[in-house]
Amino acid sequence: MDKTPETVIRDEVRAITAYHVPDSRGLIKLDAMENPYGLPAKVRAGIAELAANASLNRYPDPGASDLKARLRKVMDVPDGMELLLGNGSDELIQILGLAVTRPGAVLMGVEPSFVVFRMVATFTGMRYASVPLAADFSLDLPRLLATVHEHRPALTFIAYPNNPTGNLFNAEAIRALIEASSGLVVVDEAYHAFADKSFLPELARYPNLLVMRTLSKLGLAGLRLGMLIGRSEWLSELDKLRLPYNVNVLTQRIAAYVLETPEVLDTQAAEIRRQRTRLMAGLEALSGVHPFPSDANFILFRVPQAERVYARLKSRGILIKNLGGAHPSLADCLRVTVGTFEENDQFLSALQQSLLQAA
Ligand code: PMP
Repeated sequence: MDKTPETVIRDEVRAITAYHVPDSRGLIKLDAMENPYGLPAKVRAGIAELAANASLNRYPDPGASDLKARLRKVMDVPDGMELLLGNGSDELIQILGLAVTRPGAVLMGVEPSFVVFRMVATFTGMRYASVPLAADFSLDLPRLLATVHEHRPALTFIAYPNNPTGNLFNAEAIRALIEASSGLVVVDEAYHAFADKSFLPELARYPNLLVMRTLSKLGLAGLRLGMLIGRSEWLSELDKLRLPYNVNVLTQRIAAYVLETPEVLDTQAAEIRRQRTRLMAGLEALSGVHPFPSDANFILFRVPQAERVYARLKSRGILIKNLGGAHPSLADCLRVTVGTFEENDQFLSALQQSLLQAA
């Protein structure tokens, strides 16, 4: 008997490659949409004390009730709506796939968008229906509606703003999509802190809408906390697939504590938005560089010989994201996360030198 992965592991799993995270040691890290600022000393001291006193011999509160109460306030969750917490929003995407998969069930996403949507379709044995964005990265509504009618997706993800393109889609187009869908539509607001718009106030209007958020881009990526917000009819079903104790003791306590003073992270988000404006102006000033508009904490830009430019930036100590191979519409595209004032300046000057060298 053949006791090998070839005979035991599913073909579609063996066919994919693992989510790749490059080694960033020693580099200025502008590749992963993290907040570049640390927490203030006072908050860090508070966290140290919390961690010292946390009962790590005990399992966490399975319902994370203190943290949920805090999140409800800070995010202004509409009355009557519930919260489901995940180990990052990645875990919530997986829970959603697990909940709706059945033979032939379809997960719909736009391309290019966040790669985990497609990955989860594979993990959970769903068919993936991909709808290309228009050339300017806006939603192609006629094509989306045609795909809804043809494939009847059980689950659709729309990132708002979108990653890796950075833009906010037209809200009316998203509403039309929600109305046409008989399945769930999840509006993923991972980058909400850097945009002015949200579908949270629309939950009451649409029975098949859920909104997803995360603390990752706001400044707590290391804690791993994502949340799904919506009607209890949906969330109580999804909750059955959540593994017990998925949000650990330290995450629960530290997130609740940091969010006692939400203005700390809000101030940083406001500074990141200011830096985004500066970074955008810097990119626009470089000849040959074509940045795309952004409502997120990163900027996608097209540049000749992007592969070489990426490698040269890295050799100058700066790590960004090369999207060249990710999708045909992203040929020669790179994505830079908004850093601190100094990091952005270092990036811009390294980019300028890399362009001269690449020419
Ligand atoms: N949604 C989108 C659109 C993202 O870009 C990301 C992170 N790159 C996530 C969700 C995952 O975030 P988390 O850290 O909460 O798992």
